[in-house]
Parts: sequence; structure tokens; C-alpha cells
Amino acid sequence: MQRYIRMLRDGKLKVTPRREAILAYFLKEGKYATPEQVWEDLRLSLGRLGLPTVYRNLEELHGLGILVRVEGAENRFHYGLCRADDPHAHHHHIVCMECRRMQEVEGCLVEALSGRIEAETGFKLTGHTINLQGLCRSCAVGVADTGHPGDHR
Ligand SMILES: [Zn+2]
Ligand SMILES: [Zn+2]
Ligand SMILES: [Zn+2]
Repeated sequence: MQRYIRMLRDGKLKVTPRREAILAYFLKEGKYATPEQVWEDLRLSLGRLGLPTVYRNLEELHGLGILVRVEGAENRFHYGLCRADDPHAHHHHIVCMECRRMQEVEGCLVEALSGRIEAETGFKLTGHTINLQGLCRSCAVGVADTGHPGDHR
């Protein structure tokens, strides 16, 4: 928690009970969530918490690199806590479509391919986003136990 509090201060954002509650939510869950899910969980404890406020707070934390925005189930934007030592160093995240676990992916495969992409397209690459989705180890085991995912009805 302390490092995220420090990132808030470094980013010139006040440490409010609301922002602390949002950070605690993601630390506790270890998963990514939609703004609606965060709101559902926190509005009871925080009271008088509007969904637009949650949206705004999540975007602010995203702006500081504390939260990452990932495309999850139903192709909707979700937020999750970035656990990299240096959140601003280029890296990616992979999400589990089953249990919503989010994990850091060190390094970048696109950088290794950038020469080829530039040669083939004539473009100068200036950035990219990658949407990595899958099943985490424990969820993949569940699928293996019950045969092929489509087998049971
Ligand atoms: Zn990260
Ligand atoms: Zn999973
Ligand atoms: Zn990359």
C-alpha cells in the first residue's frame, strides 16, 4: 500500500479515504474489475459514492500508472493494479478470462518485431497496445480436468 500512497503524492493527488479505499480494493482482490464492480463493492462502506466519481478516480489512478486499463470479458475496459517495480517502464499485462486475475508480463515481443513491421509497412512505430487474454494456471487446470472446454453440456 505504501508505494501506491507515495505514487499518489508524487503525482500531486491528495490521499483521500476514497482513493485509499480504491487502492485497498485492488490490493485485496488481486484482480481486475469494471468501474461498476468497484462501485458495487465500495458504495456500502464509503456511502454516497456516485458511479461517475468512481470512473474519474480510476482514470486519475490510471494516469499515474497505478492502475492499468485492460480489455477483459465482453471487450469492456477493466482496471487492475500494476505491480511492476517501475510501472512506467514499458511492459504488458495478461488477464485471465475466467477468474479475472491480472499478471505482469516482463519485456516486450513487439519490440523484437518492430524492425520487420517497419520494413513491411514503411511506418515508423511510435507505440502499441497489446491485449493478452487467457486462462491462468489454476483455471487452465480446471479446464483440463473436465476434458475439452466445449465437451460438457
Ligand atoms: Zn504493470
Ligand atoms: Zn484464472
Ligand atoms: Zn510492448
